Amino acid sequence: MNPFLKETAQKILESGRDLKEITVVLPNRRAGLFFTRYMGELIQEPVWMPEVITIEQLFYRLAGNTPADELTLIFELYKLYRQIQTEPEDFDRFYFWGELILKDFNDLDQFLAPAKTVYTNLAEIKEFESDLSFLSEEQKELISQFWKAFERQNESEQERFLRFWQILAQLYDQFQARLRTAGLAYSGQLYRQVAENTNLIAKPEKHVVFVGFNAFTLTEEKLIKHFVKKFGAEIYWDVDAYYLDDRLQEAGLFFRDYQKDSVLGKTFPEEIPAEISQKAPVIHTHAIPLKTNQANLVGKLLEKVGTEEALEETVIILPDEQLLFPVLHTLPEEISKLNVTMGYPIRNAPIYAFLDAVLDLQRYAKWKNGRVIFYHKPVIDLLSFSYLKASDAEFAEEISEKIKLDNLLDVPVEALAKEGTLFQLVFRKVEPQDLFDYLGEIIQYLAQELKEDVIQRSYLYQAFKQLNRLKEVFRTNQDKGLKMDFVLKLFRQIFRELKLPFEGEPLQGLQIMGVLESRNLDFRRVIICDVNEGSFPPGGGINSMIPFNLRRAFGLPVQEQNDAIYAYTFYRLLHRAEEVHLIYTTSADQGKANEVSRFVQQMQAELHVSKPDTVMIPVQLTPGKEITLEKTPEILQRLSNYVKKEVENPYEKSFSASALSMYLDCRLRFYFRYVASLKEKEEVVSDIDPMTFGTLLHSALEFLYEVEEGKSHRDIDSHTIDRLLPQVPEAVDKAIRKFYKKENGEELELSGQLVIAREIFIKFVKEILSYDQKNGPFRVIGLEKEYQAGIPVETAQGKLEIALKGVIDRMDIKNSVVRLLDYKTGKDNKTVRSIASLFDRKDDKRNKAAMQTLLYAYFYQYEHRANQLPLKPGIFNIKEIYNPQFSPFLVMDKEEISDYRDFAAEFESGLSGLLAEIFNPEVPFDQTEDEKKCTYCAYKEICGR
Ligand code: SF4
Repeated sequence: MNPFLKETAQKILESGRDLKEITVVLPNRRAGLFFTRYMGELIQEPVWMPEVITIEQLFYRLAGNTPADELTLIFELYKLYRQIQTEPEDFDRFYFWGELILKDFNDLDQFLAPAKTVYTNLAEIKEFESDLSFLSEEQKELISQFWKAFERQNESEQERFLRFWQILAQLYDQFQARLRTAGLAYSGQLYRQVAENTNLIAKPEKHVVFVGFNAFTLTEEKLIKHFVKKFGAEIYWDVDAYYLDDRLQEAGLFFRDYQKDSVLGKTFPEEIPAEISQKAPVIHTHAIPLKTNQANLVGKLLEKVGTEEALEETVIILPDEQLLFPVLHTLPEEISKLNVTMGYPIRNAPIYAFLDAVLDLQRYAKWKNGRVIFYHKPVIDLLSFSYLKASDAEFAEEISEKIKLDNLLDVPVEALAKEGTLFQLVFRKVEPQDLFDYLGEIIQYLAQELKEDVIQRSYLYQAFKQLNRLKEVFRTNQDKGLKMDFVLKLFRQIFRELKLPFEGEPLQGLQIMGVLESRNLDFRRVIICDVNEGSFPPGGGINSMIPFNLRRAFGLPVQEQNDAIYAYTFYRLLHRAEEVHLIYTTSADQGKANEVSRFVQQMQAELHVSKPDTVMIPVQLTPGKEITLEKTPEILQRLSNYVKKEVENPYEKSFSASALSMYLDCRLRFYFRYVASLKEKEEVVSDIDPMTFGTLLHSALEFLYEVEEGKSHRDIDSHTIDRLLPQVPEAVDKAIRKFYKKENGEELELSGQLVIAREIFIKFVKEILSYDQKNGPFRVIGLEKEYQAGIPVETAQGKLEIALKGVIDRMDIKNSVVRLLDYKTGKDNKTVRSIASLFDRKDDKRNKAAMQTLLYAYFYQYEHRANQLPLKPGIFNIKEIYNPQFSPFLVMDKEEISDYRDFAAEFESGLSGLLAEIFNPEVPFDQTEDEKKCTYCAYKEICGR
């Protein structure tokens, strides 16, 4: 295989010109490096090498200037915008538009479009008045935010947009002047300056050779033609007859025009190479179901390459950078050298997420009673990062646990203090103007700690560089104080787009690169991933504020040109390749059907590439092993903690109704939770989940119906409820305070969600009171009362009394019936099909709530053995409270269970049978057969389910 750049170097050598008298101009730096290497390989004796530069360098050299960095440019643009606008946006909001506006300015200049005409012309485009379709939903949303600055009443969307548009014309004009005065420039501006003044370009001292170009911008075309015409410059085209001669092939779109051009046409070779059809690379297409499995296939293909062949002859092209790390992880071990050339977004790196959480921490940090406190969420997020764990894992774990256990919404700074560690650097409150220094110190600390980790250090380096740029821009430009929110938004805007430029030693090892990075390079073996429409070629259109019609009318590139560039890049990879693997995915991605790229379809039709191999790469072939735990003596010993003792404290450990339900759901889960005591993950509750809702509701009702201390009951009648109704809001607040452990007098700040939830609680509690008023009077005899009880069970060690426990929400007596009521927030069913069904693990509709309330009746009877009153269990479903037919009582065979004692014998026998199984050494703790039960199980990672 003779690469194009090597062949060109050979031709230049054969031309007999003195190499030091030649300047070779290439599209990018990378092509230049390869060219120089090939040239070096071909030269037999020490000589001066030709000068090798990029087209960009040529323009900047001729313009006598280089562009300023993007942040500075956007900030300059912003300063102008603020002068033009009476109520300008803040910089963070402008940043997005700034990027887009600058990109459009660049396009306008690169393609020598009359900027002022373009911007004013829009006002005259009739269709536009009724069509904003060229804007994406996101753009429309952002633009409508942006318009707030231009808002006047009774103006239509279009009119406002047009006014914004006209500002752009003004911005463009003044921006040029402002930059010139400041000695600054943007890239397109320099290109235009050079192209519009070609008559001023002096004859170059060296002979200029342009190599490997396609899809010139107008400024490039003008300059190159000038060099060819006036200075006899040469052009080496990297082109193939396969697409050049076929008018329908988009890859040849630009070349066909150049061929017809009076200047450029003469530079084409007489005979256009036809490598693709003559050499006909062996092309394999692979259809793969899942996107990420492409990496596995790449690994497999590389295994077959073996070690005989030079690795640098193989390239992996990744149109989507997300695949980079999966591919790196599946490379065969023998591959010791590789070179990655692509930008990898920093937003995918852990350091971005960490710094983002650090800023969130500062955003919610505040002073309270003379001390700094942090909101728990960012604190918990930060503690879960490996950076802090590496600093002191035990300490991080300890604080996390404490926050969760104590349900701490705010964490005082002292709790996080740990001198000499990253904790000390992170957990301190800083003022907005010190934020950049603060982040800088954290980054530097991490860079020191992670000095062995090349990739992380590269991320940190990029983040630090950008941070310093930001700091610099603000130091010289910010005329008002920084706000925390502003810095946070700016950080997200800027860092989100930042890419880590992977660029290793490009000439060695396996090559991994993005699509456009492969320009001018040739490889014997080419593996391309994501050969799907939308990826290769990419979809999504051109990101511009200038609508399609105008772009087209003024010669600015539109999607068609973009597609042609990608088509060329694709076919160019086939010029000299011998073996090509095209991998595409078949499953839908993010709701979009994955269509194979048109390039594959074209090849199948034209080059008769065989049907794709459909490759099935299983995600995980080995299913998780089954787990069965026999009841060893140690396990039986642990279980014995649940036996009621004949001592002062007889209930060391007791089973609750949920424990028994869990056992029926899955024996292994029960083992993890109640025997091995593996805690399920707990979280600080700031959002109102059903559990919190229930707790708060119970608590509020307890405050309202509270039985006076020293008394055994409280009578509630309609008058009492009349008096209680106005006290409901206060009782709800008291419940919230209790839940969030707020002292009396301590300020209670409610989050937005809690404010809404509070109103709902108040409504529900009032509704319960109204129900009670309608169905009263009654005598409260207990609220939220904890019961413990034993139950005799036949076990291998003889008859044992097993300990049980539970909290009964409310016990009252009405018409000489003891009612045992459980408040529920869900939609629990009150129908009991049979007592036996409550203990049947195979019964899909097992009524757990009914089992719980019947158990409470058992507790009551156990404690009050002399009780002669009927015991009536009920479930107070809050959601049903508005139903006029609502009744809380359990129903069996279509009749209310009016006395637990009628079923006590059967229930107790079921209960002791269940407990006998738990203690039976012959019945192991095993996994449930019903995998639906695993969906919300905290132990599913252990189980591999
Ligand atoms: S994941 Fe499933 S099998 Fe494993 S403990 Fe949980 S419920 Fe049982």
